[in-house]
Amino acid sequence: MKLYAKLLCSLSVAFIAVRWSASPFNEESLKGARVLVTGASTGIGEQLAYHYARLGAQLIITARRGNVLEEVVRKCQEMGAQRAFFMPADMAIPSDAERVVQYTIEQLGGLDFLVLNHIGPSPYGMWNGDVEHTRWLLEVNFLSYLQMAQKALPTLEKSKGSIVVVSSLLGKLCGPFALPYAATKFALNGFFGGLQHELAMQKSNVSITMCILGLIDTDSAMEKIKGYINMTAYPAHDAARHIIEAGASRQSETFYPWYTYYACLFRDWFPYFRDQAIQNSYTYNP
Ligand code: NAP
Repeated sequence: MKLYAKLLCSLSVAFIAVRWSASPFNEESLKGARVLVTGASTGIGEQLAYHYARLGAQLIITARRGNVLEEVVRKCQEMGAQRAFFMPADMAIPSDAERVVQYTIEQLGGLDFLVLNHIGPSPYGMWNGDVEHTRWLLEVNFLSYLQMAQKALPTLEKSKGSIVVVSSLLGKLCGPFALPYAATKFALNGFFGGLQHELAMQKSNVSITMCILGLIDTDSAMEKIKGYINMTAYPAHDAARHIIEAGASRQSETFYPWYTYYACLFRDWFPYFRDQAIQNSYTYNP
C-alpha cells in the first residue's frame, strides 16, 4: 500500500513538473489575438469567451441562439475584448460551419486560434437503438469540426496559429449512458491525433491542442448526470482557463481536472478492475 502511495506521489510530482515546464504561458501573447470560439452561448464556451475577452483578444463567437450570443458579446466588450462579434450558426448544417470561418477571417483579417467546443444535445441513459441520432450528432460534434479546421488551416498556417479541440475523458475511456456522445469524442481524438502527426511531418506552423476534460459543472452536464452518478464537478471557469493556457502554449494534449490524466495513464493496466469500478460508480435500477 505504502509503495503504491509513493508511486502515485512520484507520478504526481513528475506530472506537475512536466506540466509547468511545458507551459510557459504569457498572457500578453493573447492581446489582440484573433480567436473564434464555437458553442460560446453557454457553459465552457461562454467562459472561454470571457477569459479571452479579459486578455484583450479579438473574438468571434458562435452557437445557434443569436439573442444569447448578443448578450455574451456585450459582456466580452465590457471585460476588455479588443473587438467582439457573434454569428449564429447551426453546426448540423455543413455550409454553416464553413460560413462561420469565412466570416471570422473577413471580420478579423485572419485567425490565430480556432477553438472547437460546441456539442449538440444528446440524451443520457441506456442506448435506445437510435442510429439516426448518432448520425446527426456525428455531423454536429465531429464533421463540423473537420470542416472548420479544413477551412481555417491555410489562414492558421500563415499566422502560425492553433486549433484547440475540446474533447472528453469519454473519448478516451468507455463508459455507459452517453454512447453517441462518446463515439463523437473518440472520433475527434482519433482524427485530430492523426492530424497532429501529419502536420508535424509536413513541418506545418499550425499546432493542435487536444483538451481531455472530466466532469465540469455546466448546467447541461449537471442536468444530465442527475440520478446517475454522484461525483465532483469542476468549475467551468477553471476548465476554460486551463484550455486557453494549453492552447496558447501549444501543448499537444492537456488534461483537466487532474484525475483525467491518471485515468488515461492507467486505462489498460487492470481492465477487469477498471470496468468494475466504472460500472459501480453509476446508479442503475432496471
Ligand atoms: P453546453 O453547456 O451544453 O454548451 C454547448 C454549446 O454548444 C452551447 O453554446 C450550444 O449553444 C452549442 N450548440 C448546441 N448545438 C449546436 C448546434 N447544432 N450548432 C451550433 N452550436 C450548438 O456544453 P459544455 O458542457 O459547456 O461542454 C463544452 C465542451 O466541453 C464540449 O465539447 C463537451 O464535450 C466538453 N466536455 C464537457 C464536460 C462537462 O462535464 N460539461 C465534460 C467533458 C467534456 P446553442 O444552444 O445556442 O446552439
